[in-house]
Amino acid sequence: MHELSIANSLVEIASEHARANGGQRILAITVRVGPLSCVHKSALEFSFDLLKQGTMLEGAQLKWLDVPVTVFCPTCEREVELPGIQRFRCPECDTPSGDIRSGRELDLETIEICQQATADA
Ligand SMILES: [Zn+2]
Repeated sequence: MHELSIANSLVEIASEHARANGGQRILAITVRVGPLSCVHKSALEFSFDLLKQGTMLEGAQLKWLDVPVTVFCPTCEREVELPGIQRFRCPECDTPSGDIRSGRELDLETIEICQQATADA
């Protein structure tokens, strides 16, 4: 299951980042995901919940930032947003376009670290 390896690298990157910043714990991570990334969110959430146990991400929330699919339309000469991934045609002028500009994303966008000093605990 490739979601498992994605979740694994998310946990690793976030843990490394938290350590480098002297953070205690990670509260949440936000992942930018496009409809063409071929990732099943529910499978990734499941894997993430499994892998975060016993790490700095234990209890952390996985948040999604949905990226729309955009293609470059040669007729309109600009990037246009597609309403879905069934038809790769410009919604304005109906020109077919396979020139995908966004929608394949799967990026770790933000990592929220708990910066609370241990004195407070
Ligand atoms: Zn167009």
